[in-house]
Amino acid sequence: MSWRRGEIWLDLEPRWFRELTEGGALLFETNAPSFSGLTLESLTAALPDGLAQSRRRRAQLRQRRATRKTQAVALVVGPAVALSLAAPRLTSASRASGPLVEDPPSQVNVAADEKTPTRSVTPSRPLGTPRFPEVRWADGASRGLPYAGSLLGGTQLPIEGEDWVTWNPVTDSVPNRPNRLFGNDRVIRKLLAVVAAYRETYPKAPRVVIGDISFQGGGPMELHVSHQNGLDIDVYYPRRDDTLRAPTRVDQVDRRLTQGLLDAFLAAGVGKVFVGYRTGLSGPSGIVEPYPNHEDHMHVRFRPPVD
Ligand SMILES: [Zn+2]
Repeated sequence: MSWRRGEIWLDLEPRWFRELTEGGALLFETNAPSFSGLTLESLTAALPDGLAQSRRRRAQLRQRRATRKTQAVALVVGPAVALSLAAPRLTSASRASGPLVEDPPSQVNVAADEKTPTRSVTPSRPLGTPRFPEVRWADGASRGLPYAGSLLGGTQLPIEGEDWVTWNPVTDSVPNRPNRLFGNDRVIRKLLAVVAAYRETYPKAPRVVIGDISFQGGGPMELHVSHQNGLDIDVYYPRRDDTLRAPTRVDQVDRRLTQGLLDAFLAAGVGKVFVGYRTGLSGPSGIVEPYPNHEDHMHVRFRPPVD
């Protein structure tokens, strides 16, 4: 199962809320190690009966909390996530007194995670490298035409990766909705190869901003006539200010990087690339074609895969 940031948050949030309401318990836990060497029997022998029972209940409660914390540690899959988790903890620390400041569990977890990578951490991945969702490949088939077709068994481009982010043209924001990011698997493979090659050629280039591809089953998509069978991909022109957003004016476009990105798609043998009239981009006639409403992105159409 691939990791998704949203799933982690949904899973963990109730824990934080529950722990935030237990300020007294956290104070007790801070001192917990001093009790850890004592057995329930020795406590029972040393203390009056009522107090012993109270101790026993609290010890059991402490054990349950310890178990819960262990589970939370296992879910911390990398420094980026751990930092996200630290945020609400730090907020709570500013509201609560001493013990939380002295014993912020999430910070302890970060250190433990770095010293002893769990099986969920890839050892070859440098620490601090963001962890992106993996592609779940499906055997796809593009039917019909880009403007009258469908997509069977589409592969979803993850909403972001090492070399790309996705842009939702409906809400004008990052990322795109996953359901707008389905393509033929061979198209997605080529796309990943192109953006990787482009970023290797231009190491300082920001990640590529990718827009709509197709719906999961293809078919008509709002804002588009084509994009119906998993062969069309909108790619926004890299901006001179390096922000990962669609440009809103031609003078925001980094012409050199945009031409480099276009060239990388051409090298992959794409069928068509529609570009804006005022972009100054160039390429083989018959493949690179000026088209209205393409001043902020190039529309790349891959050739239908041949089995
Ligand atoms: Zn398009």
